[in-house]
Amino acid sequence: MALTIAASDVICVQYIHWYVKSNIFSMVNFLIFGPPGSGKGTQSVKLAEKFNLSHLSTGDMLRAEIAAGTELGKRMSSIMSKGELVPDEVVIEMIASRIDSTRDRTGFLFDGFPRTVAQTVALEKMLNDRKMKIDSMLVLDVDHDELVKRLVARAELSGRPDDKDPSVIENRIDVYKEKTEPIINYCRERGIYQPVNGVGSIDDIFRRLSKYIKKLI
Ligand code: AMP
Repeated sequence: MALTIAASDVICVQYIHWYVKSNIFSMVNFLIFGPPGSGKGTQSVKLAEKFNLSHLSTGDMLRAEIAAGTELGKRMSSIMSKGELVPDEVVIEMIASRIDSTRDRTGFLFDGFPRTVAQTVALEKMLNDRKMKIDSMLVLDVDHDELVKRLVARAELSGRPDDKDPSVIENRIDVYKEKTEPIINYCRERGIYQPVNGVGSIDDIFRRLSKYIKKLI
């Protein structure tokens, strides 16, 4: 009898352990996507709050490293000030370390990550290894002139060096087209591509994005 109880206790503890770990199985994960100035950051903060999503912005993480004066921040700062992408390994590592420390959230909202097809493949693997996937890619559609207008206006408020210089703004848009936009086709083939009109008031765009998120959670 004592042995039976002990065995069932072990099974019970194992089940609880599995259940706690498997809580992340039910997470629904979104990419918020679009060129620089398309409003990803602004919308992500609002969406994360409304839907209890964990907002992971690699741009914010990198700026935090710079602000903290870390070695990594120092190395990345000159790349970022030119509007180039930092190496894939750096951002993949940052995201990997956050995924496992996140609990009790509806899902992840990846903002500014992935930015290359290699980062997308790495993210899919990280999620698949944890029995998750990218559920939807929400792509904010904004034309070139509107992007430049927004970034120039944002420079006043953000104080971001990469928003101040028009040639850096153009380079960031070019880098997006060359290295980041190919992810759209990759996600389209997987049936998770969802374009969203990114022009209008912040509230209008928020309502459009919310509609697609609600459908999945
Ligand atoms: P963001 O705040 O997303 O506009 O990012 C600002 C800058 O950080 C970018 O122009 C890149 O230099 C760097 N960065 C942010 N996220 C990534 C990423 N996923 N891959 C490579 N570079 C990134």
